[in-house]
Amino acid sequence: MTLVAGVVAVQGDVAEHADAIERAAEDHGRAVEVREIRESGIVPDCDLLAMPGGESTTISRLVHSEGIAPEIRDHVAAGKPLLATCAGLIVASSDAGDDRVDELGLLDVAVERNAFGRQKDSFEAPLDVDGLDEPYPAVFIRAPAIDDVGDGDATVLASWNERPVAVTEGPVIGTSFHPELTADSRIHGLAFFENDAATVRALENTQ
Ligand code: GLN
Repeated sequence: MTLVAGVVAVQGDVAEHADAIERAAEDHGRAVEVREIRESGIVPDCDLLAMPGGESTTISRLVHSEGIAPEIRDHVAAGKPLLATCAGLIVASSDAGDDRVDELGLLDVAVERNAFGRQKDSFEAPLDVDGLDEPYPAVFIRAPAIDDVGDGDATVLASWNERPVAVTEGPVIGTSFHPELTADSRIHGLAFFENDAATVRALENTQ
């Protein structure tokens, strides 16, 4: 059976995420069909979701004005996986430290926007990530840091310079870096296919 993967496409690295999802699915022997989400009504059909980087203030404004925000909340409440990267992590957080971002509150973390510098300070670092055997080549572009992890279920998966840069809570994984910008699709694999949450969910829905 084919899983439906949605990529929030109001702004950001949409094609790159679609590509990474397809590669991760292939690595795990799964079939996926990727849909781009620019309006409401598509998320409810999705088994898994990615929310890309870009500009968090813009993404926040558009997911709310297009009516996509409550659908993303319902998706996560139903236990379906979401991978939120960079600006996507900022929007998914519970505290973006910026009034222009209306957070979705899906990860109980406070973030600091642009904590790792401006565009010229973009860098790649080998990152030890919980759940991956080998270091992951993480690309940081004006990346947020995760400064405060709540007392609930949010767990840090990776840190750089002693600051958390990947976190998980329930079916959500958030990363400060851009896993869609390398050929290594293991983060997408971890978020979507490793525990098979998406597949199990989709199978239940077809029964
Ligand atoms: N600096 C951006 C923001 O705060 C995020 C950068 C990115 O997604 N690469 O929205």
